[in-house]
Amino acid sequence: MPALLELDHVGLSYHTLAGEIPALSQISFSIQEGEFVSLVGPSGCGKSTVLNLIAGLLTPEQGQITLQGLPREHSVLSIGYMLQKDHLFEWLTIYENVLLGLEIQKKKSKKAVAHVDRLLQEYGLWNFRSSHPSQLSGGMRQRAALIRTLALEPDLLLEPSLLLLDEPFSALDYQTRLSVSDDIWKILQKEGNTALLVTHDISEAISMSDRVIILSKAPACVRCEISILTTLADRAPMQMRNAPEFKQYFQQIWKELNHDA
Ligand code: ADP
Ligand code: MG
Repeated sequence: MPALLELDHVGLSYHTLAGEIPALSQISFSIQEGEFVSLVGPSGCGKSTVLNLIAGLLTPEQGQITLQGLPREHSVLSIGYMLQKDHLFEWLTIYENVLLGLEIQKKKSKKAVAHVDRLLQEYGLWNFRSSHPSQLSGGMRQRAALIRTLALEPDLLLEPSLLLLDEPFSALDYQTRLSVSDDIWKILQKEGNTALLVTHDISEAISMSDRVIILSKAPACVRCEISILTTLADRAPMQMRNAPEFKQYFQQIWKELNHDA
């Protein structure tokens, strides 16, 4: 089986009026179906650029990206993209917001709406479906944004898919952040999703991931990859933060991140 996602020596520069800004040099890594992988690295090193390339919003100048063994442009893999800001529209209700993507993509079938209803019920937002975003807590808004992302693929349970998360928790306060990352991890686990999370929070990366990929400073390349292994039976993020292995992983990642600082 080919990897769900593979980046092979991907490079990219931004060409601006001020000159060329090399953002990525020779990035190579792959993700298997069902894995939860985090991407960490210094601010400005090119993490969001990597996600934009995978999402197809940018095209690599060097190297190539393959999805399920096919070149990115020929792939039919469904990709969800969740950004730091939840981008909910304040003048629409939660229900209208989560159905919006379906409407835009003309995918609003009975089955798709039933899928959204199930997600809203399951993740505690059903009773808030007629509320507007401003009436919800930060954590609830972020869950609504995730449901909107998941809504686009009613067959998510049957089909492999890839979810890209670009610092989706960084606008939340610490308390909320802990519980939302736990919630979202559980949702993804249950839906059998493959995820690539960009974060600058080492603890968050360890607590949520099967594997952490560390990037060097710009132009980024992969400095190293660390598999997060635990003896814990329940490896949900909240539990993982207290795992006996946690501290050692933290120190290891900290050291790698500060290597060229
Ligand atoms: P990160 O997400 O790790 O903070 P980015 O991928 O956003 O990093 O940016 C990587 C580098 O590319 C930075 O130096 C940034 O200033 C530059 N960059 C990002 N987007 C653009 C753009 N649209 N035009 C020019 N330079 C950009
Ligand atoms: Mg970024």
